[in-house]
Amino acid sequence: MINFDNLKAKIKKHAYDFDVKRIQLAFEFAAHAHEGQKRFSGEPYITHPIEVAIKVLDFYPDEDMVVAALLHDVSEDTDRTLEDIEDVFGPTVSNLVRGLEKLSKVRSRIDEPEIENLRKMFVSMATDIRVILIKLCDRWHNMETLQYVRKEKQERIARETLNVYAPIASRLGIYKIKSALEDLCFKFLQPKMYDVIRSELELYASQNNNFIDKEKDLLHKWLTKQGFKVTVSARLKTLFSIYKKLKRKGLSSIDSLYDVYAIRVVLPNEDELKLYELLGKIHQRWTPISKRFKDYVAVPKPNGYRSLHTSVVGLGPKDFNRPVEIQIRTQEMHDEAESGVASHWLYKDSKASKHKNFDMQTNWIDALNTFQSTADNSELMQGLQMDMFNDRIFVLTPNGDVKDLPVGATPIDFAYNVHTDLGHHCVLAKVNSLVVSLDHELKNGDVVEIVTRKTSEPNQYWLTFLVTASARQKVKHWFKTRDFDKNIKTGREILNKYLLSFGKPILDSDLSVLKNFKGDRLTVNDREKLLEEIGLGKILAQSVLKNIYSFDEIISKTDDKKVEELKKIKEEKSLKNLVNSMIVCGLSEPNLTLSDCCDVKYLGPIIGYVTRDKGITVHSTICKNIKSMNPDRRVEVLWDKKIAKWFVDIEILLLDRPGFLRDFTEVISKVGLKIHDLNYQSVDDNNKKLFLHSVEITNYDDLISLIRRISSIAGVTSVSKVN
Ligand code: MN
Repeated sequence: MINFDNLKAKIKKHAYDFDVKRIQLAFEFAAHAHEGQKRFSGEPYITHPIEVAIKVLDFYPDEDMVVAALLHDVSEDTDRTLEDIEDVFGPTVSNLVRGLEKLSKVRSRIDEPEIENLRKMFVSMATDIRVILIKLCDRWHNMETLQYVRKEKQERIARETLNVYAPIASRLGIYKIKSALEDLCFKFLQPKMYDVIRSELELYASQNNNFIDKEKDLLHKWLTKQGFKVTVSARLKTLFSIYKKLKRKGLSSIDSLYDVYAIRVVLPNEDELKLYELLGKIHQRWTPISKRFKDYVAVPKPNGYRSLHTSVVGLGPKDFNRPVEIQIRTQEMHDEAESGVASHWLYKDSKASKHKNFDMQTNWIDALNTFQSTADNSELMQGLQMDMFNDRIFVLTPNGDVKDLPVGATPIDFAYNVHTDLGHHCVLAKVNSLVVSLDHELKNGDVVEIVTRKTSEPNQYWLTFLVTASARQKVKHWFKTRDFDKNIKTGREILNKYLLSFGKPILDSDLSVLKNFKGDRLTVNDREKLLEEIGLGKILAQSVLKNIYSFDEIISKTDDKKVEELKKIKEEKSLKNLVNSMIVCGLSEPNLTLSDCCDVKYLGPIIGYVTRDKGITVHSTICKNIKSMNPDRRVEVLWDKKIAKWFVDIEILLLDRPGFLRDFTEVISKVGLKIHDLNYQSVDDNNKKLFLHSVEITNYDDLISLIRRISSIAGVTSVSKVN
């Protein structure tokens, strides 16, 4: 039941000169590794790699390719490693398997704009054409057994195959795989339409076979009589190509198509020069439809396809005028059409293939590039001016989007390619989850993640390693626009924002508030330079602010009033906190309670009284009772400035967005400040106001960092301390 014998038989049939023992060993190695694993069909897993190897045999493989086909799922799906494979089968095989493993990681999310990139990536990731051929055969067999897979998965795989794998087979000229894949995809993606066309085609064949055979025979006899040595065959077009044709022409039945089948005339290779002679003879004998003549010998299709196509009327019964398509080619052209790029192994020494400069020893990707540049002219034009395709690498965003970059590109090139802001604010890059330097050279298939910080800016140093012209230009542009005036303007904006936040007047035209700075008298020029430095991010606005206004000036008397109000509202719990902010000289843990008879004001004048049983009660110095109490028992109680807290109210305006409060809470928890109450209300449809009541701060820096961090939350439009 294991199909390995079929593989051996086919090797024999093709007379491939392989070391069958080594192939047997690969089979045993794979069978052992996959032991116990099953396909969705229920068959032992090993049947799959064998089927893939059997398919590979159609494409003139070398021995390593067959071995790699047998091992292609071993390193990914079993506990055998690439090293194990290398130990037994050598580096060529293990490299092929590595390439296949890498390709299997490219999963498409299949949305139009990405598809073209994905195809390019697929192709360029495989540094060896053999990897692609094996991969195509792998996908071919998976498509053939797709009925065993879950329904949703079927659709995804079929779509991916149609969008990525079939076009690659087509670009490489491998029509055999291309049309097989397309028909299979068609079957799974549009089962009803598939059935309709299939039964129509069956009907057509049963009605026309006889007739087609007659045409074929007639043509063969006649050509032989003219002295040509030819084989003549007829073939029906594939279901999918008929479907596309019907759709394109807006037709509903295949009866209305006159090229449902084609007759193919194949000449021996040595008779290549007779191609046109044969064509001419046919055109003399039957009437050609001039519009339908195509010379793909003089001008091959972008993927290398060569053949003469003509349609003639009158072949067949006298009263029958249906046009018949005839394709004329040599055996080599025929093999090329079926197996595309793979047939060049077969013909690599032949004279006939030289016209294409197709040398398999040199980089086959070059050939593919030529195909591509002619195939996708418009799309490639812009790219061609800067970079050639073979100098490109393809990397992924964490979401799996493919980005196309030149060789040598760095994470910063990548960031600018995704979005200008991502480049401007890039601080850290991860490649395949590991942190790398910003000038790290990216490789094909890398997953690149960029970490940004809003305050981070481009660095002149980047210009020393950036590879893409657009990234360089964006960085230069950034510096250019960040000229002196601009920097001053930015600096002014930043500083004003802080001043406003702290309830202070904004900068005047003379910048007079900066006149006395750190004990120096600054000229207007100096003041502007200071602003420029703020604008450039060399000096932090908050540190400038600290030099303009002292803490006392920021936390002004109004705040004491605030505290009094607060006190009134507060119940016992917060009064206890008040006691915690007091110290008694000489006592490490004084037992303090607030007196019931008077109102102690935060930071107001206080005095302690030692009681018999309640420790020390704290009174206001203006309390009437304390004045009449025993002066000997009075003790000095002080406010502990170190742990004393100031309370500020903060008002935040923001554009409403989901998740804001979550982000806000996260920021606040990082700052570690206590907020006594907050109030969230709508201003209008889009704007909200968040009011923080009595945030406890112990110093200037707390306040600055609180305001700075809140300002950096997305959506916040203003933050200010309320007086
Ligand atoms: Mn596989």
